Amino acid sequence: MTSATGLDPTTITIPGELLPTDGRFGCGPSKIRAEQALALAKANADLLGTSHRQAPVRALVGRVRDGLSDLFGLPDGWEILLGNGGSTLFWDAAGFGLIAERSQHAVFGEFSAKFADAASRAPHLAEAVVVRSDPGTHPTITEAADGVDLVALTHNETSTGVAMPLTRPQGEALVAVDATSAAGGLTWDPSEVDVYYFAPQKCFASDGGLWLAACSPAAIDRIERIHASGRWVPASLDLHLALENSRANQTTNTPALATLVLLDEQLRWMLDHGGLDWCAERCRSSATTLYGWAEASAYATPFVADPAQRSEVVGTIDLTGVDANAVCAALRANHIVDTDSYRKLGRNQVRIAMFPAVDPHDITQLTRCIDHVVGRLGGG
Ligand SMILES: *Cc1c(COP(=O)(O)O)cnc(C)c1O
Repeated sequence: MTSATGLDPTTITIPGELLPTDGRFGCGPSKIRAEQALALAKANADLLGTSHRQAPVRALVGRVRDGLSDLFGLPDGWEILLGNGGSTLFWDAAGFGLIAERSQHAVFGEFSAKFADAASRAPHLAEAVVVRSDPGTHPTITEAADGVDLVALTHNETSTGVAMPLTRPQGEALVAVDATSAAGGLTWDPSEVDVYYFAPQKCFASDGGLWLAACSPAAIDRIERIHASGRWVPASLDLHLALENSRANQTTNTPALATLVLLDEQLRWMLDHGGLDWCAERCRSSATTLYGWAEASAYATPFVADPAQRSEVVGTIDLTGVDANAVCAALRANHIVDTDSYRKLGRNQVRIAMFPAVDPHDITQLTRCIDHVVGRLGGG
């Protein structure tokens, strides 16, 4: 890989005063704070390597469930469910345990498309209704279509850097929101939503492999009704089994304890600093810096044209006159990693996570590093 000047980007040394204190800007797995790693070392004394059916791990799961309820300000009757398999598994579980007959999906990127696809192919469900918009925008569903009993929204499309406001469409359908990269970084109103599900490797700065879902009483009722109907459900995808286990602060099968410890530590940090509003403000501050820099830059432009649809947790910036792959390679050689765009989007772009763990000042430093690299590559 070479640049306009023929320079190998990996030979560029960025001056120390421009570097961020932490170079992890990936959208998941994402930056884990040092205090979280220390919490893991501490947990090794009496938690890691012990039974998930015994009191210490169950207390940890209980703390995570209560902490999430606090963070989101969940009304009475809402419950946190969790299980193994991450958000991708949750799509399949929702196809068995939340969609009664037909779902409707706002599709505006790779992740929202995957859930729509999973629901469309499920042989026991009717063909899903899909409302699409171009990458870089989001569609709006104001009313659930006929026969639809679940509307699927995505709070933040991680593949494109578009965030959508969560508003309940008219009708009786449940509103299920993929909040994998939004949960903990963007605010939302539980009265507009029934299921807010995510995995902890993004704003919660933990590892992957777990799914968590905040469920309204209507969502719990749906899970119980489908269970009572006798529908066949594989045990690993059974939300009713997950509900029973979650109520006992357990999971259907063995979870990764380290993932729970990292998640719990991040939750304490978020709550101690003022909760979701504080987290969202921190992300907003990073986003103001990133988009402001791109708008002022001669070679960088925010991919999402409408400022109201730009995500405050995942920023996508198109580059002109310089190869984004060369820029990312130069950054990586200087320990600034995972700034690459979502591969399937196929744009000359950098994508930057601005999750709560990322220090807003490090976003400022990152923009300086990119300016430096582009200057050296002779682009822009
Ligand atoms: C990362 C991501 C997923 C996939 O999460 P997994 O835990 O890897 O299954 C799904 N949806 C969105 C919006 C994401 O950002």
